[in-house]
Amino acid sequence: MNRYELAAQLQFFKDIGVESLAVGAVREAQARERAASINNGPLDFPAGHTAPLQDLESVRAEIGDCQRCKLAPKRTNIVFGSGNPSAELVFVGEAPGYDEDQQGLPFVGRAGQLLTKIIESINLKREDVYICNVLKCRPPENRNPEPDEVAACNPFLKKQLAAIRPKIVCCLGTFAAQTVIQTAAPISRLRGKFFDLDGMRVIATFHPAYLLRSPEKKREVWEDMKQIRAELFRLRS
Ligand code: URA
Repeated sequence: MNRYELAAQLQFFKDIGVESLAVGAVREAQARERAASINNGPLDFPAGHTAPLQDLESVRAEIGDCQRCKLAPKRTNIVFGSGNPSAELVFVGEAPGYDEDQQGLPFVGRAGQLLTKIIESINLKREDVYICNVLKCRPPENRNPEPDEVAACNPFLKKQLAAIRPKIVCCLGTFAAQTVIQTAAPISRLRGKFFDLDGMRVIATFHPAYLLRSPEKKREVWEDMKQIRAELFRLRS
């Protein structure tokens, strides 16, 4: 980690209110990087964890030029998902917003920039993980997804997760958490603990867009991210 990266990481820790942990956390990150470079291999994806890339591509092919729900006529692009097709960690958001609809990529707006920082806070890069949404098309004016839209789209999220087979799924916000975990419980009750689902560990945390409005909640997201980091270590060993 060079001094600019170190400064960026310290700034993020400061942003999320964990100055007291910063030195230890950064030292730990540096030690992990040194260990990875000594092993001369990727830090976060052990050898043998290979991707069923074709499967994910075939899920995208099955979606095609989707007209399965009423969101289709108004969308600019289907936002399928992006990242490592053999990711150990998948983030699931709610639905594309304006920027995502324009670019056809998930989490590329302001909330996406914060998500990138959150991912980097546990020493992963955005391209190490996979990022997608429950809905693949933008709801008008970013309104909440409706049940018929979820019914049409959720089978494809399930197929994406089955193709990737991540160790951990992190649901971002109420809507993703309730859809993936299949519960009506509020995010305040769901976040910060693991659920078992089809051989994956599922955890929920606050949505980055909510953090932009309520920055004081970043500390709880940091706690959730530390749990994810620890669980990844545990599952790899
Ligand atoms: N919010 C989401 O839930 N998903 C995105 O892709 C962007 C913003």
